[in-house]
Amino acid sequence: MVKQTIQIFARVKPPVRKHQQGIYSIDEDEKLIPSLEIILPRDLADGFISKNFDQDANQETIFENIAKPVAGSVLEGYNGTIFAYGQTGSGKTFTITGGAERYSDRGIIPRTLSYIFEQLQKDSSKMYTTHISYLEIYNECGYDLLDPRHEASSLEDLPKVTILEDPDQNIHLKNLTLHQATTEEEALNLLFLGDTNRMIAETPMNQASTRSHCIFTIHLSSKEPGSATVRHAKLHLVDLAGSERVAKTGVGGHLLTEAKYINLSLHYLEQVIIALSEKHRSHIPYRNSMMTSVLRDSLGGNCMTTMIATLSLEKRNLDESISTCRFAQRVA
Ligand code: ADP
Ligand code: MG
Repeated sequence: MVKQTIQIFARVKPPVRKHQQGIYSIDEDEKLIPSLEIILPRDLADGFISKNFDQDANQETIFENIAKPVAGSVLEGYNGTIFAYGQTGSGKTFTITGGAERYSDRGIIPRTLSYIFEQLQKDSSKMYTTHISYLEIYNECGYDLLDPRHEASSLEDLPKVTILEDPDQNIHLKNLTLHQATTEEEALNLLFLGDTNRMIAETPMNQASTRSHCIFTIHLSSKEPGSATVRHAKLHLVDLAGSERVAKTGVGGHLLTEAKYINLSLHYLEQVIIALSEKHRSHIPYRNSMMTSVLRDSLGGNCMTTMIATLSLEKRNLDESISTCRFAQRVA
């Protein structure tokens, strides 16, 4: 069996208006719009998506089907990456981090942390250590969302996270702090701290959260008693910047710069995944962007790589939803 480089899921966001009627959802202007399978051209809906989650799929279902298998392989010592791709407002953050309103709205990160700590506690055959890091990439610059100096200074004044490559081509991230978490609660607090820091930084940076990529990483090391070998594995949970195309007319300045960086970094991510799936390809263009450099040892090979295409079926968003599916189709 040929192993796919990447597994792809699609998740449809519920319409803003809650009414639903069978396979139809109701648009803001009360016009009926059909569900994904009907709207998307057949070649888009067929084949490459492992599983489609409609608007009724809850956070628990998403975790069980998408994140748990990846978390399981990380517990076995393999690196993994889950990323959410889609236009702004399509449910990336809701899927990766979750909503704050209800406990049941917890997304993939808190559920994965809960699962991992539960499993670690059960396994007394090894000694485990868990560290967390939380990186934001904005216009190709890296910011440490867990830098302890955050409270005292603004994001812009903190040292940028930069990529260092050692002679063995291992990647090191300079200025990205790793924080040990011994319990689920400690890890959750780090998530909250990072998200708060991200929000505080947002005002001057104009809604940076939809224009930046965020990578929450769970680093796991394990050691068997009496053994000197430490095994490392990590899981990247990635909330990508909104994939929508910014109209070239009418925007200038920093909006255009942002759009350029986002388009480029999503393009390079696509290039890397496609290159990984080509059997005899020896050169993988990781170095083109910060995102692909950071994910370098966690894409392809023995790593489980999963993409969640988040889709909005509201009529005005259909073009972007189709373009999200096209991206998924190209990397599948
Ligand atoms: P994005 O991160 O892609 O910009 P968000 O995750 O912020 O989008 O989602 C936009 C809005 O829709 C938020 O208010 C979020 O709570 C809500 N939302 C997204 N997906 C769902 C879902 N599956 N169920 C309920 N609400 C959702
Ligand atoms: Mg978001």
